[in-house]
Amino acid sequence: MTARPHWLFGDQLGPHFLDPRHGGPDAQAPVLMIEARSVLRRRRFHRAKAHLVLSAMRHRAAELGDRVRYVRAETYAEGLAKARGRKRVPLTVCHPTSRRALEFVGALDGVEVLAAKGFLVSHEEFSGWAGRHGGGGLRLEGFYRWVRERHDLLMDAGGPAGGRWNLDQDNREPPPRGRTALGIEEPWRPAEDAIDDEVRHDLDRWEKAGEVSFVGRDGPRLFPATRREALTALRRFTAHRLPDFGRYEDAMLAADPVMSHSLLSAPLNLGLLDPAECVGRAEQAWRDGAAPLNSVEGFVRQIAGWREYVWHLYWHFGEEYRGRNALGHREPLPGWFLDLDADAVTARCLSTVLAQVRDTGWTHHIPRLMVLGSRALQDGWDPAAVTDWFHRCFVDGYDWVMLPNVVGMSQYADGGLMTSKPYTSGGAYINKMSDLCGSCAYRPTERTGERACPYTAGYWAFLHRNRERLAGNHRTAQAVRGLDRLSDLPELLAQAGRRKDAPP
Ligand code: FAD
Repeated sequence: MTARPHWLFGDQLGPHFLDPRHGGPDAQAPVLMIEARSVLRRRRFHRAKAHLVLSAMRHRAAELGDRVRYVRAETYAEGLAKARGRKRVPLTVCHPTSRRALEFVGALDGVEVLAAKGFLVSHEEFSGWAGRHGGGGLRLEGFYRWVRERHDLLMDAGGPAGGRWNLDQDNREPPPRGRTALGIEEPWRPAEDAIDDEVRHDLDRWEKAGEVSFVGRDGPRLFPATRREALTALRRFTAHRLPDFGRYEDAMLAADPVMSHSLLSAPLNLGLLDPAECVGRAEQAWRDGAAPLNSVEGFVRQIAGWREYVWHLYWHFGEEYRGRNALGHREPLPGWFLDLDADAVTARCLSTVLAQVRDTGWTHHIPRLMVLGSRALQDGWDPAAVTDWFHRCFVDGYDWVMLPNVVGMSQYADGGLMTSKPYTSGGAYINKMSDLCGSCAYRPTERTGERACPYTAGYWAFLHRNRERLAGNHRTAQAVRGLDRLSDLPELLAQAGRRKDAPP
């Protein structure tokens, strides 16, 4: 039997997607890739994201040489028609990462959808786990421990290495005092090549012709576009930067946006790296005595815990999750936020983080959650619009990873299916965990008046607005009781009401 051609989506670029073992494509199958222009038209993406995805796809095609047919088309349907011809040649494709794409491939005649790759846990395994543990609501901690045991990750003599499953307590340090940067080895960054030049030229051309439109600034490509680059980035991280990962995981420094984070989400989500090799290398670093357990456990928790959990919750919660809006938030996103206009913003934390997104399409987890997401939550922005914004503006944003992270974790729009409380805070948290407040025009301790911190005022206004719901949650009840001790609540609410669309 001749091998059926295998269609690779743009986020299935690593060698494991062509591995014929474990239900993969036929051995030596010819490869089809489709660059569909309509995908870029669907949303106003960050320019750096469009560049990265096209660069990675074209690099993969160049590596595959004669084995690949690379079709440029308006839509996937048009690309498929071109590639399959009238005879509708049978194809295989690995389970895509969005529901929309899964429905599309599932409805095609003669296309076999193979198992998903690029994750540690299969859909069947997750369903089994969720069936056994879903009674009281699914929670990450139980899932993560189960993955560690099942995959023998960081385990010793049947128990967690070091005797504890969770080292979060060691991983919440503020940034080192008096320092503007962590001062560790720089993260790996790529050098652009002729394929990047071609991509930049095409994007310029399409933009000029009014065919597509982007947000954010163009700049040198900052994330891996090939397997070789991704492996180099992983090696540099585990060898030099992993030791500090744990301690400062939640900290922010204005002049050091990356801190000790890995910057591996983009290559992982493009399929250039497999999560098993990332956690395997981190564990090895600990076993070799090259990285402390709190850092390695923290990193393994992010990849084998959070990333896997988010992927499975996307499928588990179903399509209606997208429209959840438990807090009834309906405010539109303001223009300055949509346009990444960091210079219009006075609050130093928000302006700094928005500038990071504008310039690179990336910022680490805490600015996403506690600066960007928290602003949206406090100001009652429509969660579906917030999800779309994150999807468009981040180099690592895809439908599957956006929905649980934004609808659930960041906007609490699912009413607590994913997290046990809303993530938001006053300026005191930002002040403790960063150097962003020092020279800010606002004061984290002030709730009203000219210098009132928009996060502090917004936090209390958010608690007040949701008083009833949050009073009944044991994780937020105490904070709600704090409202009764505020003598200036009426002034604070009047002030928070005024702020709505003006940049804070
Ligand atoms: P590190 O801090 O070095 O963490 C290591 C890896 O863990 C990451 O590369 C990532 O693959 C994985 N990871 C950690 N947390 C998560 C998580 N919650 N969900 C999925 N993977 C996780 N992550 C994305 O990959 N794409 C997104 O579009 C995305 N959007 C987010 C939006 C919001 C509002 C929030 C709160 C989080 C979002 N995250 C997203 C999760 C997390 O912020 C990023 O994965 C991380 O900041 C990427 O930087 P890094 O590779 O340096 O991560």
